[in-house]
Amino acid sequence: MDRVKKLSQKKRIVIKVGSSTLSFSNGRINLQRIESLATVLTKIHQDNVEVILVTSGAVAVGGGILGIDKKPHNLSEKQALAAIGQAELIRIYQKFFKEYDQVVAQVLLTKDGILNPVRRENACNTLNSLLNMNILPIINENDTVSTRGVEFGNNYILSTSVAVLINADLLIMLSDIEGLYSEDLKKIINATFIPTVTEISPGLEKSARGSKNSFGTGGMTTKLDAVKICFEAGIDTILTNGKEPEIIYDIIKGKEIGTYFISSKT
Ligand code: GLU
Repeated sequence: MDRVKKLSQKKRIVIKVGSSTLSFSNGRINLQRIESLATVLTKIHQDNVEVILVTSGAVAVGGGILGIDKKPHNLSEKQALAAIGQAELIRIYQKFFKEYDQVVAQVLLTKDGILNPVRRENACNTLNSLLNMNILPIINENDTVSTRGVEFGNNYILSTSVAVLINADLLIMLSDIEGLYSEDLKKIINATFIPTVTEISPGLEKSARGSKNSFGTGGMTTKLDAVKICFEAGIDTILTNGKEPEIIYDIIKGKEIGTYFISSKT
């Protein structure tokens, strides 16, 4: 089945946006980008596609508020920044979504909430109720109580867990890279772009390397780990650069943007 047809059938989409997309390299929040994201997601959501946003940025926003431009190494300090930043992050999202009368809801998840069957069912029911009420859930990890690095570790795995939990049919990962390349683009400038992937071979995994920026987490290996979970669950994934959120319109129209990971179990 061709890409246009496949993508036009996606009706429940999880969009994962990372700190590097939401903030400048000095850690300051990129309000214009969040505004564009809110505009695009509202339009898609109002056009009968259910949208669930998984957002990072709590630590980055908290750092920005306190004027700290590097993520602290100390876990509790990171969690403190997340607690400061999460409230502001949601306030910013709410402000932009409100311009279109799109109601949003904050959902903070932890790994045990996903693994424990009772809590998992509750989380799933709540998310489904929100979607039935036409509300756009905005999800992040509950960083205050999470033991970072032991639980989700980063929002790539959180976004896949959410996609699986609510039976989404597409996960779009907005990152600071155009998609998957044959080599690490930061080291090999003529690395070739890979538009479509149907299998994560050991060779592909070996060549996938990424580097971290000051607030973002997760290189290409993490992204591929997330894709593997989606593959198993029959969920397609698109990895692309989030610097222009408007490309999401083109993605769901099936234009060749980013790397399209097609699950054979779809
Ligand atoms: N939950 C973290 C935050 O909002 C993000 C984790 C990640 O970078 O993926 O800052």
